[in-house]
Amino acid sequence: MVWALPCLWMSCSSGAKEYIRNTGRIFGTYYSVVYQQPDGVDLQDKLEQRMQEFDRSLSTFNPESVISRINRNDTAVRTDAYFEAMYAVAGQVSCRTDGAFDITVAPLVNAWGFGFGNGDRQSAPAVDTIMPYVGHGKIKLEHHRLLKDDPRTMLDASAIAKGYSCDVMAALLEENGCRNYLVEIGGEVVCRGANPQGDKWRIGINKPIDDETNLVNEYETVVNITDAALATSGNYRQFYYLEGKKYSHTIDPRTGQPVGHNLLSATVVAPTCMEADAYATAFMVLGKDRALQVCESVPGLDCFLIYADEAGENQVACTEGFKKYLAR
Ligand code: ADP
Ligand code: MG
Repeated sequence: MVWALPCLWMSCSSGAKEYIRNTGRIFGTYYSVVYQQPDGVDLQDKLEQRMQEFDRSLSTFNPESVISRINRNDTAVRTDAYFEAMYAVAGQVSCRTDGAFDITVAPLVNAWGFGFGNGDRQSAPAVDTIMPYVGHGKIKLEHHRLLKDDPRTMLDASAIAKGYSCDVMAALLEENGCRNYLVEIGGEVVCRGANPQGDKWRIGINKPIDDETNLVNEYETVVNITDAALATSGNYRQFYYLEGKKYSHTIDPRTGQPVGHNLLSATVVAPTCMEADAYATAFMVLGKDRALQVCESVPGLDCFLIYADEAGENQVACTEGFKKYLAR
C-alpha cells in the first residue's frame, strides 16, 4: 500500500485548540489525523501501534506479513481478521465490477514493474504466460487458510488496504470517544462530525497532472463532506514510458494490460474507505461510462470522475448523488 495520492487539504487551525493533529509516515506514505478527544488525550502512539499491527497483516512490503507469507506459500500461515475482512470486500467488489478489481493481479503488477516484485520496465512482459494463474476464482478462503489452485498465484492488497487502514484508524478513534475527526492516509479519507470551525470537512480533489514527484497539488474541485469515506485513484503519479507509450499502475486483470483510456482519476464516496478505495481502482479499469453505470447501481456509492475529451481537454462527470458534496 505505498502509492500515495496526497490530494487533500483541510481547514483545521483557527480557534481549534481542542482538536489534536497527529501526522507521520506510514506504509511508505503520509498520514494525518485530526480529532477531538473528549479528555484531550493524544492517541498518536495507539494509532501507530494499530497501524503496525495492520502492516503485519496486509503489507506486501513487509516480508513477515500474513499476505507476504501467503504469497510465498508458507504453509504455516493462518489468515487474521484484517486479512479476512479485506478478502470479503475484495471479492464483493470484484463481483460487482465484472472482475475489474482483483487482488490476484499481483503477478501482473510485478511483471509490469509496479509491485513488490521487480519487473524491469525494459520490455512488455509475456502476459499470456501469467494469465493462467490470475483470477479471483482461483483462490478460496477456508478455515483461516488461503487455498490456491496454482501456487504461482499471489495477492496484492495495495488498491484496498490503504482505504481499509483509514477505517481501522477511525475505529480506534471511535473506541476512544472521538466523534469529530478526519483520518487521511495517502489521500484516502474517513471523516465524521464537524471540523474545527463547526462545519463539514473540506477536501480537495487533485487535478490529474502527470507528476511522479507527488509534489504538484492543484485542485480540480473541493468537496464539503462528513460522516463518509472517500478515496481517489489516478494514473498521473505512478506511470512510466516505454517506446513512447505510457504505462500506468492500474492493470486490467481480464487482459493483463495496463489500462490506457481517457479516464484520468476516479474519486469514490462509500460507506467504508475500504470500499471507496477498491471501487476507485476498479473504476479506473472500467473507464468513465461503465464506471458511472456500476456506481449508480451500488447503493451508498457515489463518484466524481475526471477524464480527457477528444480534444485532450479535462472534463468532469459525477453521479447525481455526488453533486451535493461539491462546494459552492
Ligand atoms: P493509489 O495507491 O494511488 O491510491 P490504487 O488504490 O488504485 O492507487 O492502487 C493501485 C495499486 O493497486 C497498483 O499499484 C497495484 O499494486 C494494484 N492494482 C493495480 N490494478 C489493480 C486491479 N485491477 N485490481 C486490484 N489491484 C490493482
Ligand atoms: Mg484503490
